[in-house]
This record gives sequence, structure tokens and C-alpha cells, in this order.
Amino acid sequence: MSASAYDFDLFVIGGGSGGVRCARIAAGHGARVGVAEERFWGGTCVNVGCVPKKIMVQAGEYGLWANEAAAFGWSDMVAGKHHWNVLVDARDAEVARLSAIYGRLLGNAGVTSFDARATFIDAHTLDVGGQRVTAERILIATGGHAVKPEIPGAELGMISDDLFTLKAMPKHVAVVGGGYIALEFASLLRALGAEVDLVYRQPLPLRGFDQDIREAMRDALDNLGIRQHAGHEAARLEQVAGGVQVTTTVGETVTADAVMFATGREPNTKGLNLEAVDIVPGRFGAIPVDGTQSTRQPHIFAIGDVTDQLNLTPVATAQGHALADTLFGGKPRIASLANVPTAVFTIPPAATVGLTEEEAMLQEPLDIYLTRFTPMRHTISKRPRKTVMKLVVARASQKILGAHMIGDDAAEMMQGIAIAIVAGATKQDFDATVGIHPTAAEEFVTLRSMTRQVG
Ligand code: FAD
Ligand code: NDP
Repeated sequence: MSASAYDFDLFVIGGGSGGVRCARIAAGHGARVGVAEERFWGGTCVNVGCVPKKIMVQAGEYGLWANEAAAFGWSDMVAGKHHWNVLVDARDAEVARLSAIYGRLLGNAGVTSFDARATFIDAHTLDVGGQRVTAERILIATGGHAVKPEIPGAELGMISDDLFTLKAMPKHVAVVGGGYIALEFASLLRALGAEVDLVYRQPLPLRGFDQDIREAMRDALDNLGIRQHAGHEAARLEQVAGGVQVTTTVGETVTADAVMFATGREPNTKGLNLEAVDIVPGRFGAIPVDGTQSTRQPHIFAIGDVTDQLNLTPVATAQGHALADTLFGGKPRIASLANVPTAVFTIPPAATVGLTEEEAMLQEPLDIYLTRFTPMRHTISKRPRKTVMKLVVARASQKILGAHMIGDDAAEMMQGIAIAIVAGATKQDFDATVGIHPTAAEEFVTLRSMTRQVG
């Protein structure tokens, strides 16, 4: 069959971060592109992820700042009552605005959009909301969904999607999990005034992050007033007189108005009829792909969360962009998953790029540079908020292998540090860089005394 005999050169299943980027860029390269979205244009990030979450974190920060302003001479600025409905209206308006922009971007690029679910009929044919559509190439960009642990009473707990539809803020929330979503929602709910219990099964939050950052995160959550139940796994949930009760595997109980599970996400592959194209999902339903995002069918590709590699928006968009350039732009390239920076939007945030000390020490001897200090704002505000900054340096080459931070503006800083690390910067390059004063960021270029040598 010649390419023009198909309805589309490329059909994208899923109008989220990755799918929209790939569709738009491919159309810009002259391809005839269709895309189906069954729920919300812009996907998880815009509608129930990064964007509404960050707005709620910012809302929480305003309250904390207002409470601290007196130390800087402002009177009558103590945070008053928080009006959840005002925040919800502002947040939802911004989400609607951005979701509409995603739809418009596709239209402007000449992409044909379908508000429908798409499933496979055969290797080049899809059922798109009851309509048969053919495509020379197909991209699966269906994202993922939150999963609850399989424990008795799990149906009594919410997931992060549900937080965005609440009409009022629960006064007391028990959050189960110790990863990104658990910590971000625990932080924002606490900063907005809720009582928060955080139940996680590891000794420290954020498994996989650098140990010094994990310890500092535990302390930061303590300072925010979050009650942490480390080393506890939820065993069952029950409705009791005072709300919903979580009983942990070691028999401790926490009762709250609401329980939220943030215990991981799994790829959206169920119901796609992948059997029809002989693609067998792997662990937790992830679609196996090679470095070029190709599945075992050379004309069917997968990007973003459905491949369960690094489940971050910029990764999904980078993969979508690279794929479109490769297939239709005459510029074959792959999106590198090395040195991807990431941030956890707690209050304060943590951010990281490159290897943790624990990962790097398995490879070679290291020089570790670490500083802990109270930032100027908090020496005045008297809030016991510590900033921790750390560089993991290869002793032989002096290359910076990893940078890690927890503290105000960590996410904003780490983007720039990531450029240096991707470019292969050494400790001497950092030392030769003049700081910006007075900032916390200048500490990254003035770390002169080595804290320890490892290996
Ligand atoms: P998605 O954005 O999930 O898009 C997939 C789309 O496919 C969805 O819109 C879905 O409705 C649609 N779909 C599924 N099946 C079908 C079908 N059969 N037919 C048609 N349509 C279908 N990442 C960050 O980088 N920074 C953050 O701060 C951040 N915060 C987050 C906060 C939360 C609460 C959550 C849940 C996630 C967050 N993430 C964050 C992760 C980020 O949202 C995802 O990595 C990103 O959205 C993945 O993009 P994607 O294109 O792979 O999938
Ligand atoms: P994470 O993988 O970050 O964390 C999952 C947490 O749930 C871990 O603490 C894990 O514990 C725990 N857990 C898993 N299963 C169980 C269980 N049965 N009982 C108790 N605890 C359990 O997933 P999230 O859901 O927080 O987020 C999903 C992904 O979305 C993230 O990994 C990230 O890629 C992305 N994201 C990115 C954000 C950002 O960039 N700021 C924000 C939000 C999400 P353990 O460590 O012991 O396995």
C-alpha cells in the first residue's frame, strides 16, 4: 500500500504532552497527521498534574509568606482564612485556558483532531470513536494512571486526580506514599492549612534520590508540620466515626477526614487491543521500545509515560519532538535520558540532575562538596528552613556527575546547572564561574572546601 493510500501519514493516540508535541512538529514537517484524545487535551500535566498542582503549591506559599512578613516589618499580613473555592476557580480557569491552547496549536499546525478513544483494529487501522482510520505510522502516547495498593478498603482512598475535584479542602488528610506526588500534595495541603499525616514504607522519603537530600526532605516536611510515619505500609482502610482510618502493617492507625493514595502510576495500555498488533506490554503494562521509540512493529512507536521510563513532561515532549524530526524532518535523533533534571515541588522544593552519591560511588572515586545553611530570608523570618546544596564530583576527571539541592528556588536553579552538566562541566569550571550576590545559587560556584572523599 503506498503512503498516500492511508488516511494519515501519522496517527497519534493520546493528546497529552508527548502526543501533541509529536503531532504538531510532524505536521510542521509536512506530514498528514491525526490525533485522538479521549479525555482532555494537554493530558495529565495540564489537567491533573504539573499545572494545577503547581498553582496549589503557589497558593500554599502565599500563606506562609504572609505569616512571615511581620519579621520584615509588615503588619496585619498574617494569612487569614483561605478560600478554597477562589483558588479552585482560578486554577480551573488557567487549566481550561492551557487545554484550549493545546487544541488550537494542533488546529493551527494542520493536525486533524478527534475527541475520541482510539484502539487498534490491525497494524495500520484504528477504531477512533467508531470510525475506521488508517495510518502509515502510529504513535502510542496514552500516558498513565494512578494505582492504589490492593488492600481492603482501598476504595475509600482518593488518588491525585480526585484532589482536583474537591469542593472543599479536607481539614485532615492522610497521604500514603513517599514519592513525588505524596510529598507535593502533603506539602501543599499542609501549607493551605490542613493537618497532614504522611505514611510511607521506607525509612526516608524519595527513594532513589541522594541520601543527603532525602534526610533534608524529612526535616523540611517536619518543619512544615507534616506528621511522618516512616517505615509504615498501609494495610487496610476503614470508615470509622471520625473519618477514614488507615491501619498500617505494624498496627498503627491514623484517622483523617480523607485518605489520598500516591502509590505510583501505571501505563495506559489496557483496552488498546495491542494483541491485534502483536505488541506485548512489559512490567506494569509498559510498552517496550528501543532507543528510537520503536516498538517491535517498526511502524508503531511509543513515547512518554506509556513506556514507563522517566515519567516527566519534558521527557515526553522531547521524545515526541525527536520522533517527529526523525520520521518526517530528515533529522534523525534520539532524546537522551542522561542527565535529565527533575524537581519535587514541595515547600521548599528539591531538585536534582545527574548521579546521586550512592549511584556515582559504584562507578569511581568521588569528591563530595556539601553545604547546609539557613537562607537569608529565613534567618530574618525565623522559620527553621535549611537549604542543602551538593555536588558529586569524579575525583580523577573532576567532572561534575551530579548536583542536588533542597531549598527555595531549587527547581529554578537546577535548570541552569543541568546545562553545565550536560555540557560536561568540571569542578574547575564551576570554580571559575563568578557568582551572583546575594543569592543562594552562588553557593554552587563557591563550594571551595571538600566535605568528604568517597572510594
Ligand atoms: P499524558 O500527558 O498522560 O497524555 C496521555 C493522553 O492520552 C491523556 O490525555 C489520555 O486521556 C489520552 N489517552 C489515553 N488512552 C487513550 C486512547 N485509547 N485514545 C485516546 N486518548 C487516550 N511531570 C513533570 O515534569 N513536572 C511536574 O511537576 C509533574 N507533576 C505531576 C503531578 C501529578 C499529580 C501527576 C499525576 C503527574 C505529574 N507529572 C509531572 C508527570 C507528567 O504529567 C507526565 O509525565 C506527562 O503528562 C506524560 O505525558 P504523556 O504525553 O506521556 O501522557
Ligand atoms: P513515585 O514512584 O514517585 O512514588 C510512589 C510511592 O508510592 C513510593 O514512595 C513507593 O514506595 C510508594 N508505594 C508504591 N506502592 C506502594 C504500596 N503498595 N504501599 C505503600 N506504598 C507504596 O510515584 P508517584 O505516584 O508519586 O508519581 C508518579 C510519577 O509521576 C513520578 O515517579 C514522576 O515520574 C511523575 N511525577 C513528577 C513530578 C515532578 O516532576 N515534580 C510530580 C509528580 C509526579 P517505595 O519507594 O518503597 O517503592
